[in-house]
Amino acid sequence: MPEATIFSKIIDGSIQADILYQDDLCICIKDIQPKAPTHVLVIPRKPIPRLVDASVEDQALLGHLMLKIGDIARTLGIDEAFRVVINNGANAGQTVFHLHLHILGNKTFSEDALGMS
Ligand code: 5GP
Repeated sequence: MPEATIFSKIIDGSIQADILYQDDLCICIKDIQPKAPTHVLVIPRKPIPRLVDASVEDQALLGHLMLKIGDIARTLGIDEAFRVVINNGANAGQTVFHLHLHILGNKTFSEDALGMS
């Protein structure tokens, strides 16, 4: 079992967060240090450390997360333009080792940069 991360603690309610959406598979919270005017995180309840650690048994869960991104973007009013980022590994910028998808919006991103800034 992976070590409990800050996101596991948010999911089990022992640490507070601004929860925008939740269901039996995932939770969506506001990022505490937003990199865009709208910056939320979609986090599976299952503590998969990195995207690369997901397996075929997670296929439906990963599809669920992708579909929820659209719903959440529509709810936030950013569905015309937003960026989704998954950092996999420390050298890619991952700091919390519990899979999460960043949704960034209400910002114009440069065409040639795939980062969050
Ligand atoms: P990573 O760098 O792992 O891709 O993204 C982790 C994200 O989690 C960062 O954008 C960071 O601001 C956010 N974060 C870290 N700790 C907390 C926290 O306690 N609450 C919330 N809401 N976000 C957090």
